[in-house]
Amino acid sequence: MDNINIIQKIKRTIMIVDDEFINQEILKAILGNDYDILTASNGKEALDILHQDIIPPISLIMLDINMPVMDGLEFLKIIKAEDNFKKIPIIVLTVEKDNELKSLELGAADFIKKPYDVPEIIRARVKRTIELSEDRLIIQAAERDELTGAYNKDVFVEYVSRMDKYKKNPVNDMVVVNVDHFHLFNEIYGRDEGNILLKNIADALKDVARSNDGIVGRLQADYFMMYLKNQTDYDAFYNSIHEKLIEYHSVDNFRLRMGIYTVTDSSEHVDVRIDRAKLVCDELRSSSLNNYNIYDKAVQDKSIFNERLLLDLPVAIKERQLEVYYQPKFNVVGDKPVLASAEALIRWNHPEYGFLSPGLFIPLLEENYSVRFVDHFVWNEVAAQIAKWKKEYGKTIPVSVNVSRIDMYDENIIPILLDAVRNNGITANDLLLEITESAYNSAPEQLIGVVNNLKEHGFRIEIDDFGSGYSSLNALASIQFDILKLDMKFVREMNKNEKTMKMVQIVSDIGRLLNVLLVAEGVETEEQYLQIKKLGYHVIQGYYFSKPVKVSEFEKFLKED
Ligand code: C2E
Ligand code: MG
Ligand code: MG
Repeated sequence: MDNINIIQKIKRTIMIVDDEFINQEILKAILGNDYDILTASNGKEALDILHQDIIPPISLIMLDINMPVMDGLEFLKIIKAEDNFKKIPIIVLTVEKDNELKSLELGAADFIKKPYDVPEIIRARVKRTIELSEDRLIIQAAERDELTGAYNKDVFVEYVSRMDKYKKNPVNDMVVVNVDHFHLFNEIYGRDEGNILLKNIADALKDVARSNDGIVGRLQADYFMMYLKNQTDYDAFYNSIHEKLIEYHSVDNFRLRMGIYTVTDSSEHVDVRIDRAKLVCDELRSSSLNNYNIYDKAVQDKSIFNERLLLDLPVAIKERQLEVYYQPKFNVVGDKPVLASAEALIRWNHPEYGFLSPGLFIPLLEENYSVRFVDHFVWNEVAAQIAKWKKEYGKTIPVSVNVSRIDMYDENIIPILLDAVRNNGITANDLLLEITESAYNSAPEQLIGVVNNLKEHGFRIEIDDFGSGYSSLNALASIQFDILKLDMKFVREMNKNEKTMKMVQIVSDIGRLLNVLLVAEGVETEEQYLQIKKLGYHVIQGYYFSKPVKVSEFEKFLKED
């Protein structure tokens, strides 16, 4: 409101373009109290004034038609083609009827008849013309994104609904466009160049949208949306955008990613369509090969599946659909392998989807942070199981549990783990904590702090999937740990690739130098078993000994032992 009040109070400037001095003077007399007046005596002179740097913004031009040097129609034509001036409203001052139509076609906003009659009428028309044009500018400014000129989200959504209502095309595509690694582009070329890129993308999209009965909006940061006629050839569509962009932009070191959702049901909420296009757009982040991704039946099923799992989790925990499996780890240092411990691995017996392995739901639960609830459940189950075995078999089998990187952000992680241990009458030393090496990437400081704290409370730390991340050595150097578990892919590849075999050897050397227990997982064959044993690994986990199994089956190992 304040802005609008200020806008109403400023004294605006009007330019009068007329070759007859007497007409200039009459208008000055009528309008001079309310407005600042500039005058020019022909179109050329008016243009010269407009092109000076120092003049105030012009709110209105009053334009005579018949003038020497450059007449009013010529001036109209020129000014309506200039970006800086085309929005200035123009009132044509005319005696002849036929000039009215011509000037209307050229973009004049109104007419005033000469000779001038009642001053009040002239004042009223001037005021109204200025108000109308300013309202329009305010509306345009509010509905468009300032940097790129694309529609804002709300306005875009509103226009999509209108397009559907008037059924411009029977089928439309919702497209979300994003710049791959835009933050890197910003880093390398600077924010200004980044802004120019965004502006150029918007322009390229607008061009393509225009020829496809479509519109363009900016969703957020480097995300744009388009709603346009359904396409048949998406390669050609992608290329048409890319080619336009290359034409505008000097640096071509960027890649656009595009998510496409074809809308067949126009009653579907526009936000849902945008979400779907964005979902498949974001999926491209991990794969660098495809430039676009289409939301199809498979994606839909997957996302329904994911939503269901997230929704079902609390009930699943309560109703014990989650079940802990145990995979034995054998100590292979002596002649005969000896059961050393186990790893607890979670499974979900879903009433509708059946048996689900953790790869299907753990990453999903990590994304929305609810993996904590699974982990708490597992820690308690395992602690209780260790206690039970201790009672039944008279010995303690240490079990390792997986601690998600998400758990590292939980300020209660220590009390929760301690509770699990104490409530079941075991010691922290019995519960091994597997922390995947890549947890170090996302929050090293956090991780180091939590791990140190856990160590002080007596828990043993096992670095899981060692060698799978990109800061393996950093993690080793900064985390206090007891056990190092080599990532499975090394064992899988070691006989196919000489270098990998060397890595397996090097990790063994590192373990010995650091004086920690060395574990290799994913050992499936006798050959691998013998090789790994020979290389000095202490403990082996893998299908060669056993898959992860139910409690009852795991107890066979306890009995044999
Ligand atoms: P991980 O912690 O690295 O667990 C080892 C995975 O390797 C397990 O897969 C296990 O079944 C599999 N495996 C063991 N030996 C072999 C072998 O010889 N050959 C092959 N091909 N695979 C073998 P699983 O049970 O599907 O678990 C996958 C991942 O899910 C785990 O990787 C872990 O990151 C996560 N996970 C499992 N349970 C939990 C849990 O309770 N909490 C959390 N946060 N994550 C869990
Ligand atoms: Mg593990
Ligand atoms: Mg592992």
